Amino acid sequence: MAQDKSFNAFEMAQTQFDKVADMLNLDQGTRDLLRNPFREYHFGIPVRMDDGAVKIFRGFRCQHNDARGPGKGGIRFHPQETIDTVRALSMWMTWKTAVADIPLGGGKGGVICDPHHLSALEQEKICRGWVRQIAKNVGPLADIPAPDVMTSGQHMLWMLDEFETIHGNKYPGFITGKPVGMGGSLGRTEATGYGVIYTLREALKELGINPKETTASVQGFGNVAHYAIKLYSEMGGKIICVSCWDQDDQKSYTYKKNDGIDLDALLSITDRFGGIDKNKARELGYEQLPGEAWIEQDVDILIPAALENQITAESVNKISKRVKIVAEGANGPTTPEADKVLKERNVFVIPDFLANAGGVICSYFEQVQCNMNYFWEKEEVLEKLDAKMTSAYKAVSDLAKKKNIFTRDAAYVIAINRVAQACKDRGWV
Ligand code: GLU
Repeated sequence: MAQDKSFNAFEMAQTQFDKVADMLNLDQGTRDLLRNPFREYHFGIPVRMDDGAVKIFRGFRCQHNDARGPGKGGIRFHPQETIDTVRALSMWMTWKTAVADIPLGGGKGGVICDPHHLSALEQEKICRGWVRQIAKNVGPLADIPAPDVMTSGQHMLWMLDEFETIHGNKYPGFITGKPVGMGGSLGRTEATGYGVIYTLREALKELGINPKETTASVQGFGNVAHYAIKLYSEMGGKIICVSCWDQDDQKSYTYKKNDGIDLDALLSITDRFGGIDKNKARELGYEQLPGEAWIEQDVDILIPAALENQITAESVNKISKRVKIVAEGANGPTTPEADKVLKERNVFVIPDFLANAGGVICSYFEQVQCNMNYFWEKEEVLEKLDAKMTSAYKAVSDLAKKKNIFTRDAAYVIAINRVAQACKDRGWV
């Protein structure tokens, strides 16, 4: 998705934090501790490319906070990756694990690279190089990586293999999102998208809306979007459009069908990065609109499931009066300015670090299963996931109602209180 160069995700994460720190009257020491990552690592990863030349890729890992347990969070491969984006995402991971009430902290990693233009071997070398640079500072009891934007189970397995080669033993709990059969959990692939819909289901219930009478528009067509679309459709809802990035044109497009998109048909014409084949989509009867059109559709629900900074001070005004719920599958899709407008318009926002917590909750289950060396059936994983997501949702919505505050602020109050208390109990502040 197009990224506004002036946007800074870390400033946004700090603005959101400061607002709630004021509400909570947080002491200065705790604020200073939580406004920045506790630790961060920057490094170069030398890779001999397929053509024989050596290229140095920049890699990062930020460990925002580990008061409640080891750091946890994904590794992104993205050509526009910046340290500030990784900082913001590591902070959001701390809030995510706290609001989900799992015994983990927050971290995030990234590499500036574009997997669209890298062979599998080059990607493997980046994964192994990333681990070599940081092998002493991550691990099952310190900081546990996972898949994120443009990284997959295969990337996790290469990283695990390198970590185990360096440390000379088996450490399946070092990384999550591994392939099933190689220490991965059933349900991990579905977890983030399904989790978004578990929270959406609860929000619809609360607002007294029948899912079968709703329509939705989705931004993004990666893993989160696929499973969110699948479960929402199974609940009887109708997705009328999806928007996704087109690698050939370096632009995004929205694909629309008023009688509802067909997920399987669209998946059959989608590449491994979530790009839909334009010509084939046309043949299947999809209307092709500009990428931004997903936001201005006359629907009940918006599901941003791509990148940060998509619902902004400008784009928020394009949202139809009909929209009742925004379920944030992506991390940081809505800016604080846009939040104000959504609040004024009484749109019910299911905030990112609550809505998309399903992935990290399932990662936690993956670690538990690895530790026991006993793996659950998929139904058991999804049942436990649903229970965790639902209770996190209820705690947030109860507080929002009780204090008459915005749902994002309620989620922040719960998360920041839990983390601040852990820091205090440890004697850090
Ligand atoms: N990358 C996912 C997220 O942003 C999952 C993180 C994890 O499983 O550790 O929540």
